[in-house]
Amino acid sequence: MQLAARVGKVSPSITLAIAAKAKAMKAEGIDVCSFSAGEPDFDTPAHIKDAAKQALDQGKTKYGPAAGEPKLRSAIAKALKTIYNLDYQPENVIVTNGGKHSLFNLMLALIESGDEVIIPAPYWLSYPEMVTLAGGTSVIVQTTAANEYKITPEQLTQAITPHTKLFVLNSPSNPTGAVYTRAEIRALAEVVVKHDLLVVSDEIYAKILYDGVEHLSIGAVGSEIFSRTIVSSGFAKSYSMTGWRVGYIAGPVELIKAMSIIQGHSTSNVCTFAQYGAIAALASSQDCVAAMLSAFAQRRTVMFERLGAIPGLICPKPYGAFYLFVDISSTGMKSIDFCNALLASHQVAAIPGIAFGADQCVRLSYATDMTSIEKGMDRLHKFVSSL
Ligand SMILES: *Cc1c(COP(=O)(O)O)cnc(C)c1O
Repeated sequence: MQLAARVGKVSPSITLAIAAKAKAMKAEGIDVCSFSAGEPDFDTPAHIKDAAKQALDQGKTKYGPAAGEPKLRSAIAKALKTIYNLDYQPENVIVTNGGKHSLFNLMLALIESGDEVIIPAPYWLSYPEMVTLAGGTSVIVQTTAANEYKITPEQLTQAITPHTKLFVLNSPSNPTGAVYTRAEIRALAEVVVKHDLLVVSDEIYAKILYDGVEHLSIGAVGSEIFSRTIVSSGFAKSYSMTGWRVGYIAGPVELIKAMSIIQGHSTSNVCTFAQYGAIAALASSQDCVAAMLSAFAQRRTVMFERLGAIPGLICPKPYGAFYLFVDISSTGMKSIDFCNALLASHQVAAIPGIAFGADQCVRLSYATDMTSIEKGMDRLHKFVSSL
């Protein structure tokens, strides 16, 4: 079969491959500690599930508007205003089939052949692939552990060419857990405005923060940056709703209209009753988020401390999301070899950094129970000592 050339330009997800291998080993009865999860390990809070069940019973089972249920679009606009000081109306919001779909639709609506998209590495693995699928060119900027894997305004400036259209910012970051400070966000905003670029701010982990750090949405810095900002987010990570597939984009009306047209000819509306679960997530108490956060916080402390005790591994302290991004350069191993050996010899699953554009690193997720963390870190320590 002659497949379209675009298929050959993207690679399958490495994160899924390792997770699948770990799962297969578990199914064989092998005691695997998995640090590979890219999703919270909690069930969706009961009141959110109840709202979706109720919507089902009320017959919310039909097609809805492609851009989302009006009630959900207003609830999202209101939340962005009250929590992050972003002045959006419901028409500035489109509901999508998850944050991943948000970004894919955005690239389709915005990027074409000849356009460059600046992506700091380590990056969430789908960004470059989406740019490629849209026909654009990714410009990858390498950041360093010494700078907590954050792009500097100087690096951003240097990467800009007359073809640059979009800058992808992800704070808190997957895979690094890095959170940009207010001053750092302001400095990046200045560069974006000065060069008249657009910025997409992937804020899917905005509620998952530790040690009292705050999230500043880049669009809230001022009116000039606001008009150049696109916010991408969703319900998956903060409300443990990964399988529900509800995300959103907020941005200029012209862009939201374009994305609605694309959505109208591709996926149409997001599952109607799932959107009612999302409405409940925003409208109800946020105690469920706080409870998950406190579990994550404890695990982060333990995992980070245990990691610090392993000679040779380097890891900047993460302030958000639920990952540690560990530099394994001292082992002299490539990330895939390291992860394969770790899984085969010590039954610990981690994700190779090459998937995120950083072959000298591996990603450890603490979206798993404390017992597995203790046991898995013991094994990781033994593995590294054995090298
Ligand atoms: C998980 C994730 C998303 C999107 O997740 P969905 O399940 O599609 O909502 C987007 N960006 C980053 C960085 C993520 O980790």
